[in-house]
Amino acid sequence: MTPIYDLHCHSNASDGMLTPTELVLRAKEKNVNVMALTDHDTVQGIDEARKQAEQLGIQLINGVEISTNWENKGIHIVGLGFDKTHPKMTALLEKQAQVRFQRAKDIGAKLEKIGVQNAFEETQKLADGEVTRAHYARYLVSIGKVANVQQAFKKYLMQGKSAFVKADWVDIPMAINVIHQAGGLAIIAHPLRYNMTTKWLKKLITDFKNWGGDGIEVSGCGQTKDQRQLIARWANEYQLLASVGSDFHFPCAWIELGKSLELPENCQPIWEKLMII
Ligand code: AMP
Ligand code: MN
Ligand code: MN
Ligand code: MN
Repeated sequence: MTPIYDLHCHSNASDGMLTPTELVLRAKEKNVNVMALTDHDTVQGIDEARKQAEQLGIQLINGVEISTNWENKGIHIVGLGFDKTHPKMTALLEKQAQVRFQRAKDIGAKLEKIGVQNAFEETQKLADGEVTRAHYARYLVSIGKVANVQQAFKKYLMQGKSAFVKADWVDIPMAINVIHQAGGLAIIAHPLRYNMTTKWLKKLITDFKNWGGDGIEVSGCGQTKDQRQLIARWANEYQLLASVGSDFHFPCAWIELGKSLELPENCQPIWEKLMII
């Protein structure tokens, strides 16, 4: 039987709801054989995940999802298979953590202005690790300001909305460079989730390829067949390796670890280039 890979998911080291241990246990339940924990701008969950993965015979690959700015848009770059103690990676993630902390405070200040008191302090309490907009969304739901997380983003947290704060994330060349120096591969995360036209997406992929990027996520949860085929075509056109990932954050009806992540046959799987036995 072919192994099941899931190379994009989150723990409570960022905005996932399960601990790294719980996440790996769930991956085992879902028959995942090879997984990467890719928390937002942090590798803090990986040691715990590795311990559990070793016990269960799951192969764990070091991962991270780096927030970058490109053409005034937020783009997520997944790094896989790097040395997480490499000084350049440590320095980059420290810088990102500072940026994230300052942005979280600024978002809190904006929410205060529209009547949400102590937004930063209260939201911070919901976070076990890095504070993300997902935590703000959950807080706004918990106080009844909005009905659900989607609404929180739509009304307040998305780019252009009243509590949006532009963060000074690294740029894509820097993210690729550091991932490479630490011995890993750089991948464009969830290309169809940026609300960009095809023209812009192709520009992103062109830039990424020219800057030395390695791969693109072809298979994700909840895609249509056509969407998957489209990204697979781009992967081939731009000679990028194909990655797969659920982007799992918490148990829910539509996104699951390792669920329907098969790659179309014409793709070159990223794991052929990762150090996997
Ligand atoms: P941040 O890295 O702090 O900007 O937070 C981004 C995270 O918020 C993403 O990784 C998603 O988990 C979540 N997110 C972003 N947009 C939405 C949305 N429209 N609905 C639900 N969650 C979202
Ligand atoms: Mn997230
Ligand atoms: Mn993402
Ligand atoms: Mn993600």
